[in-house]
Amino acid sequence: MIRPERLIFPRRCPICDEIITEESLICSECITIPRRVPYPHCMKCSKHIDSENEEYCRDCQKNDKSFLRGVALYEYDSVKDSINSFKNCSRPEYGEFYAAQIARYLGDEIKDFAADALIPVPLHRSKMLKRGYNQSEVLAKHLSKRLGIPLRNDVLIRCRKTKEQKKLTNLQREKNLRGAFHIVQKGVKLDTVILVDDVYTTGSTLDEASKVLLKAGVGKVYFVTIAVGIDR
Ligand SMILES: [Zn+2]
Ligand SMILES: [Zn+2]
Repeated sequence: MIRPERLIFPRRCPICDEIITEESLICSECITIPRRVPYPHCMKCSKHIDSENEEYCRDCQKNDKSFLRGVALYEYDSVKDSINSFKNCSRPEYGEFYAAQIARYLGDEIKDFAADALIPVPLHRSKMLKRGYNQSEVLAKHLSKRLGIPLRNDVLIRCRKTKEQKKLTNLQREKNLRGAFHIVQKGVKLDTVILVDDVYTTGSTLDEASKVLLKAGVGKVYFVTIAVGIDR
């Protein structure tokens, strides 16, 4: 049976955006489009690496990261437009598909992190008002339901507006993010947390958010994202 809200807001395929009538979360033609990150993976950021003999990608070899490690499901290029719509074009429902896929393929690995909470990377209030939702929070909510890990969206806030990271160099990204995140309450009583975000590109956002959590007393920070970029 189709739920009543689906008649007003029919579910759309996260890739082609066509209305899907069946209860599936993606249309049958698009199911093969999102590409899983091929093995081997970087032990830190989960980007694909060329050589079996390396443990880390070039970026993680050069630059220290404050988080312990993370997992990502898809190659960014294969889901780029979809993630853009998920973020900017009022398609929060896409998050349900991505969470289902992450839980299915990476669920065991994520559960092994033995985390106390999933913490979505927060948006600044002004962006939240403009978009109406935070895509990372939507994703984290669905993941929380599927994996049974509590969602904590009351720990971290984004207190400073930041520039779009896309066109910035690594150094500029770091500078842009400095002081962007704050802890809401003093004395966070969480030992192990998983940060949730849509995409991992250079990792600077997750790195900065993780630093703030560690400083507040969190012991270990992992991350999960829908997609990851290519090691350059
Ligand atoms: Zn489709
Ligand atoms: Zn890496």
